[in-house]
Amino acid sequence: MEFLPIFINLRGARCLVVGGNEIAARKTALLLQAGAHVTVVAPDLVPAFSELAQDHVQHQLGEFETSLLDGMTLVIAAHENFEVCRVVSEAAKARQLPVNVVDTPALCSFILPSIIDRSPILVAVSSGGASPVLARMLRARLETLIPSAYGRLSTLAGQFRDKVKQRFTHSSNRRIFWEKVFQGPIAEMVFAGQDQAAKNALEAMLTQETEAEHPMGEVYLVGGGPGNPDLLTFRALRLMQQADVVVHDNLVTPAVLDMVRRDAERIYVGKKRDDHALPQEGINELLVRLAKEGKRVLRLKGGDPFIFGRGGEEIETLAQHGVPFQVVPGITAASGVASYAGIPLTHRDHAQACIFVTGHLKDGSMDLDWEMLARPHQTIVIYMGLHGLPSLCEQLIKHGLTADTPAAIVQQGTTSKQRVVTGTLASLPDLAAEAKLQAPTLIIVGSVVSLHHKLKWFNPKDSKDKLEAAPLDEEKAH
Ligand code: SAH
Repeated sequence: MEFLPIFINLRGARCLVVGGNEIAARKTALLLQAGAHVTVVAPDLVPAFSELAQDHVQHQLGEFETSLLDGMTLVIAAHENFEVCRVVSEAAKARQLPVNVVDTPALCSFILPSIIDRSPILVAVSSGGASPVLARMLRARLETLIPSAYGRLSTLAGQFRDKVKQRFTHSSNRRIFWEKVFQGPIAEMVFAGQDQAAKNALEAMLTQETEAEHPMGEVYLVGGGPGNPDLLTFRALRLMQQADVVVHDNLVTPAVLDMVRRDAERIYVGKKRDDHALPQEGINELLVRLAKEGKRVLRLKGGDPFIFGRGGEEIETLAQHGVPFQVVPGITAASGVASYAGIPLTHRDHAQACIFVTGHLKDGSMDLDWEMLARPHQTIVIYMGLHGLPSLCEQLIKHGLTADTPAAIVQQGTTSKQRVVTGTLASLPDLAAEAKLQAPTLIIVGSVVSLHHKLKWFNPKDSKDKLEAAPLDEEKAH
């Protein structure tokens, strides 16, 4: 993070603006909006200055001099002369005064974001000075998303804040109360302009709601998909944005984790091949304990929680303890990876069925129904199969698939690190070893793999966003 976003209270504070041009006038207007007293220093001023409320603006005709910084809280330089701006910046920094030089990030100790003003709600968007135009475009999009009535809703909430605090001692009860207000009819009344009715309803709700002794939280078992955040569901995203704590493991990529609410607590329970960070029993108990503390717990899993994800075991424990939960499906690796590798899992000319199996080794071997797998006209998708790949290919050939059956192994599918290695049952183990693939990897066997060369469309190098799959040793992911 290049800059830390903060909101500064300038009410009654003295600020200096250096420059008399249009931009200086706009910055002066902004400072006045925030309640500051502004001194503007410039040899002359554009007419826009005369349109500003004059009570809190003082004009100093002439050039900048260091003594003007006396008693100032903040400085903005918008002078056309770069040298003047540099001098202002240095002088302000020497006094530890926050200084902004318009369009010159290198001389700034703070930058001004694009603002969406729904006072008292304020949304600030910044590109860290890299692209103000992009930040402004983003602001325009956000403007359309945030109803202007949010400001009034927030003011109403402010009026009741202390009363609600007195009424509910547990912070989670307060949270539940406010969620009901913001997501229910009271918010709708404000949006419809019925502020008085909303106020009455809030008053009534405050007397009706009772405080639960031990507020119970809930658990969202959410499938985070195969790694690319574009593949999250809307519901997953919504719950990720409202959780208090997220419990995640290695399959969840940093790019997906980035979508979780910033201030949510993060608990990593990843499992590496030889080191179980937390045994499964421990994870189940952890979820129960967090929910019983009244928290909204996001159990974020890679892919789909019900496909080789132990999601069933986790919610069984929750059900036993009476913890409310909901399950959000995710795009499972087979589906996401196959799409991004251009390998249709079924195809009228190639495969009428598709089967998902785990290649996880138990005591060094794979416990699979080989006869069933080696049937013709079906696609086999193998999760957690990298370490058992040689044995897998050998067994499939032994049970009737021809050695030249097409097969693929895909590393970190759907992400910018995706790599697809194709071959046959005979050649894939050596090709995969040569390629030194990084987990997670998925194996696809069947004649549909031959379509890859014609149908591949995704170029990971073109996906400029930093979609990074966390490296993991896949065997123990299950
Ligand atoms: N619940 C998950 C699977 C968990 S098992 C799901 O539905 O996808 C972990 C295995 O999933 C890994 O060993 C690997 O075989 C596969 N996998 C998950 N994400 C993957 C990805 N982006 N690329 C390739 N394989 C992946």
